[in-house]
Amino acid sequence: MQTIADRLINARQEIDKATASANRPPHSVRLLAVSKTKPVSDIELAYEAGQRLFGENYIQEGVDKIQTLKHLSDIEWHMIGPIQSNKTKIVAEHFDWVQTIDRLKIAKRLNDQRPDDLPPLNVCIQLNIEQEETKSGIIPAELPALVQEIRHLPRLSLRGLMAIPATGVTPEAQHQTLATLASLYTELASQVDTVDTLSVGMSGDMQQAIAHGSTMVRIGTAIFGARNYQQ
Ligand SMILES: *Cc1c(COP(=O)(O)O)cnc(C)c1O
Repeated sequence: MQTIADRLINARQEIDKATASANRPPHSVRLLAVSKTKPVSDIELAYEAGQRLFGENYIQEGVDKIQTLKHLSDIEWHMIGPIQSNKTKIVAEHFDWVQTIDRLKIAKRLNDQRPDDLPPLNVCIQLNIEQEETKSGIIPAELPALVQEIRHLPRLSLRGLMAIPATGVTPEAQHQTLATLASLYTELASQVDTVDTLSVGMSGDMQQAIAHGSTMVRIGTAIFGARNYQQ
């Protein structure tokens, strides 16, 4: 049976292979280990194997893990699930990144509630390019206004864009979505100094996402195994 350490090595090898075949520099893609629903002991095993970026979807579960693992102070905790406005305070107090910003109200609350003794909260704007009804995220036409507003919030640092492209679509449709995302990202990075992250690509579409400029892939099951319940 493969251990978490084995599976992390495999995931990193796949990322390296995809990065090389896209003719991109080595180490230009970061791996976010998505640990939602998994126990703290699994995160500790991944940490011992060198993993430092972890993603959580559920606020209370994530905060509990962050508090339990406080002594591992170089972990970077990413919130990758939806945030209701009555939960922004504990997110602002505990996470290092929020990748799911899709409206000004949430951004403003996170900005106002980010404690002074912490660095600015790193944020990505979530896009829903295909306008899937079941997914959060804004459409490209809404991006410029939200970017301008977030740039005026001093306790947030805008790092880039995040998306969860549809699966099970034709290769052409997948290419179209990833290409749109890539061009929005390139334009944003040319306008905003702090922007360095395009968070796209999961187990099933990692190669294509990296070929289209992803700088962060989010992998759960392939590292930690199947979840008992699915989001
Ligand atoms: C769960 C989740 C992932 C990881 O999915 P796996 O299929 O377990 O690899 C990535 N991104 C987001 C936003 C998720 O919610």
